[in-house]
Amino acid sequence: MLRNDIRQVDAILLTHEHNDHIIGLDDVRPFNFQSKRDMNLYATERVAAEVQQRFAYAFSAVRYPGAPALQFVTIDKDHPFEVEGIPVQPIEVMHGTLPVLGFRFGDFTYLTDIKTISAAEIEKVRGTKVLALGVLHHTPHYSHLCVDEAIALIDVIKPEQTYFIHVSHHMGLYDEVSAQLPEGIALAYDGLKVAVSSA
Ligand SMILES: [Zn+2]
Ligand SMILES: [Zn+2]
Repeated sequence: MLRNDIRQVDAILLTHEHNDHIIGLDDVRPFNFQSKRDMNLYATERVAAEVQQRFAYAFSAVRYPGAPALQFVTIDKDHPFEVEGIPVQPIEVMHGTLPVLGFRFGDFTYLTDIKTISAAEIEKVRGTKVLALGVLHHTPHYSHLCVDEAIALIDVIKPEQTYFIHVSHHMGLYDEVSAQLPEGIALAYDGLKVAVSSA
């Protein structure tokens, strides 16, 4: 947030409750201060319940001044919704045995922490131009895609451009890995900007 000079966050969409995805939630405070309102968190009932346990101090009846101000909006995989006027299509993927949400905004789709996806959910992704896809490294893992599995899935979805996200340090060095990836697949990096058409 600091390095990329992000001064405004309008809403937060939660994919699932694992700590690497939610533990920074306390840092919503300056964005509350900037917007002068609660931050809307879009999440499934399961994820909301888990986050309320882990951040109990932010949800207590008497909240101390300065605690992050968070407001849940419950979503599920079967109901598209809008965030600040932007249509969002939720997509369910399987993270090992845990159902996790991905999100499609117009021609951009974000799927992290994915091992498998059903044929029905793939239909929601079809036609996306840019895909951000969680891919861990080269060796198979029980709850994340490895590179070969990801390439097979990309062959089915056929986006114009895929960026691997949520990459492990076991993936290798950026230049070496990039040289081995097929055309239309690249490693994402901090500060990468993607133009999204929300139509
Ligand atoms: Zn996870
Ligand atoms: Zn993760």
